[in-house]
Amino acid sequence: MEPRNENKSSILLLHNAMIVTMDSQSRVYQDGAIAIQNNSIIAVGKSAEILPQFSSLSPQILDLSGQILLPGFINTHVHTSQQLGRGIADDVDLLTWLHKRIWPYESNMTEQDSFISTLLCGIELIHSGVTCFAEAGGQHLSGMASAVEVLGLRACLTESIMDWGEGLPASWAARTTEECIKLQEDLFMKHHNTADGRIKVWLGIRQIMNSTDRLLAETRDTAKKLETGIHMHIAEIPLENQLIVETRGVDHGTVTYLEKIKFLQNNLLAAHTVWVNEEEVDCLSKAGVKVSHCPAAAMRMLGFAPIREMLSAGVCVSLGTDGAPSNNRMSIVDEMYLASLVSKGREVFSKGTTDPTALPAETILRMATINGAKSILWDKEIGSLEVGKKADIVVVNPSSWSMMPIHDCISSLVYCMRTENIVSVMCNGCWIMKDKKIITIDEEKVLSMAKHASAELLKRAGIQVPSRMNFL
Ligand SMILES: [Zn+2]
Repeated sequence: MEPRNENKSSILLLHNAMIVTMDSQSRVYQDGAIAIQNNSIIAVGKSAEILPQFSSLSPQILDLSGQILLPGFINTHVHTSQQLGRGIADDVDLLTWLHKRIWPYESNMTEQDSFISTLLCGIELIHSGVTCFAEAGGQHLSGMASAVEVLGLRACLTESIMDWGEGLPASWAARTTEECIKLQEDLFMKHHNTADGRIKVWLGIRQIMNSTDRLLAETRDTAKKLETGIHMHIAEIPLENQLIVETRGVDHGTVTYLEKIKFLQNNLLAAHTVWVNEEEVDCLSKAGVKVSHCPAAAMRMLGFAPIREMLSAGVCVSLGTDGAPSNNRMSIVDEMYLASLVSKGREVFSKGTTDPTALPAETILRMATINGAKSILWDKEIGSLEVGKKADIVVVNPSSWSMMPIHDCISSLVYCMRTENIVSVMCNGCWIMKDKKIITIDEEKVLSMAKHASAELLKRAGIQVPSRMNFL
């Protein structure tokens, strides 16, 4: 089903809503309206001023009184391939997580599995108000692209890339550096700027412990040539930094090494970036590297990232969910809430005293919207509700037990809002969810396909999740 407005050139007016624009002046219209034509915003402002401007053009009018409009949220680090693996690695140590569960799972995926996994993940993303995501590096990019096209979302897709490392599954270990680059160039040619421009293709580096120096250098140069971004997990655990110090002749860790080889550039999206020192934060800032902070996954597997310090140093930090086996919830709404709490809590850990002012609600909202757009090099078109930008919009209904009463609208959106408050989502001028029902796909059908595909995949991969209790 094509979720387009009936007549593409007709004007759609959303009015009587509170509009949180997230523009550079932080404008919030308390009784606001947005005019949309084709896939773009052509006017935004007070309802009383916008409506008369378009009344002679017979616009389609939607009264959204009592509701709050925001730019579509941007999830800058999500493993769509891992959605079928939710629950396969809960409460296990890192090595078991990677070698016994995730690698066997991912290396046994087919393109059809990737398609179904991305559809399933997309359902959760849309319900949480996400209109755009950055894939962290997964399996079978073509499968992801087909799913994104159907879902109606916007995405920067990345293949999982490794050319080195001990204990890799055989099919991955056989891949040469040349093949890694060639595969990504081919995927770029095939999928970049497809689906009405909603899909972009990025280059991937899974992590430094699985990359040769040559892969790093060629990825940096290929991204420059293709004018696209690079998505990479960086400084995730102390062991990673330790290995880099021991093997690559630098005195701290991954960021110091990447600085040395001129890999740090403004098209790099660094995921997690937990174990970085002050000098490394400065390097990230000077190079214009963007950071995706995934608070739930960091708490579960990695540690406290110095987000407050990064923001103070001018680093653009956005939010991600990471994948289903390391977070379980793919809701950016939950991550907003957690991001603020985790950073407030970290102050106690690092300074011995609380500081409730750390990462206030308005900062968190920026991280989930405009900073997300900057992180994926797409801020000229998305990330705020402004004239000329694409119509990627979230409609929030705050009239529920979870949000009422509202005395401070901006803080309520971060501390009270639940995924259930997201009622409608528009991407690229098309409704993809209305009244909590996704209209681009049949959710029930996807759930049943996912159940079947994940059971088959686990069987093929030989993964058995041990029982925790006495099941009878
Ligand atoms: Zn990740």
